[in-house]
Amino acid sequence: MTSLDDLPLRDDLRGRSAYGAPQEPVRVSINVNESPFDVPPKVVEHVVDEIRRALPGLNRYPDREFVRLREKLAAYLGHGLTAERIWAANGSNEVLQHLLQAFAGPGRTVMGFGPTYSMYPLLSAGVGSEWIAAERDADFELSPGTAAAATAERQPDVLILCAPNNPTGTPVSLETIAACYDATDGIVIVDEAYAEFQPDGTPSALELLPGRPRLVVSRTMSKAFAYAGARLGYLAADPAVTEAVRLVRLPYHLSAITQAAACGALDCADVMLAEVDRIRVQRDRLLEEIAALGYRVYRSTANFVTFGGVADPNAMFEEFRRRSILIRDNGLPNCLRVTAGTEEETTAFLDALAEITRERPELRLAEPAPAAG
Ligand SMILES: *Cc1c(COP(=O)(O)O)cnc(C)c1O
Repeated sequence: MTSLDDLPLRDDLRGRSAYGAPQEPVRVSINVNESPFDVPPKVVEHVVDEIRRALPGLNRYPDREFVRLREKLAAYLGHGLTAERIWAANGSNEVLQHLLQAFAGPGRTVMGFGPTYSMYPLLSAGVGSEWIAAERDADFELSPGTAAAATAERQPDVLILCAPNNPTGTPVSLETIAACYDATDGIVIVDEAYAEFQPDGTPSALELLPGRPRLVVSRTMSKAFAYAGARLGYLAADPAVTEAVRLVRLPYHLSAITQAAACGALDCADVMLAEVDRIRVQRDRLLEEIAALGYRVYRSTANFVTFGGVADPNAMFEEFRRRSILIRDNGLPNCLRVTAGTEEETTAFLDALAEITRERPELRLAEPAPAAG
């Protein structure tokens, strides 16, 4: 059998591991921040109609400019945005890849504030860029002063701010984003994958776009929009940024079926987002009840919670897995991450955490660990 080591792989990819959150048929899947709610039947019907209309035309390449979809995404985002300021791809991971292909690349640097989304270093490596993990304040917070100082010092070609941050849930203020923008001549990407879960009235970085041509706000239909399987991410930025990513995208990268499925769901945005409130209630319940069990919770405005005070995260992950509950071990010392699911799923998780803590008290640190990062 040939192993990876036998292949003439790029030197800078040797020894790296692929993204690999487990996909297993378990009772409770709360490990990748998906919505627990199925696409509602009414939406399914409408999307099927849209796809049916697209099918006879599949002999032709799809609209390379996906104009109708961009118009719908602009309308969904509001903030006076128009289609020329929107770009989309197969998940926001591909949007980020397009941005790094255009603005990073060999010899350039990409920076973020760790711990943050595990795909950023992988996407950076994929385009041959160096990933810089700058430090956060205590409790994973990110103040304008800390963020701007690191940005000014390192001068990354691309800075990625994850707001709220995965895996910690930490929000990022517009002051922090604006301060970073002013501290660099590079591209500043704000990854708002979880924006819709923030408290009502929380401003989006979309507000900062006017007059900031190097600022990019990335969004996805995978999380609050409950459409991860459709693979649709998008960005809003200056029209010049969308011109730049056209230089690196593959021709016709969004299939006619993807475009139809996304357009159909956007027509039903209210229904697709209807469960966000219920998910936020479960998120807040996790924050409260995990703390009550003696673990350290970190502030979260996303649909997941990271908790610390775990003596052996891998052992505890396996205890949950034995109970057919899949949570996430991000490799963060003494921490695990759990997604807010349905009320029943959240109850199953909390009951299991109480049981594990009772049966294996050695898995909980006596003193909650001081905040890493
Ligand atoms: C889940 C997630 C995304 C979304 O990825 P898609 O490719 O759109 O499914 C983007 N950024 C972060 C930080 C995420 O956690």
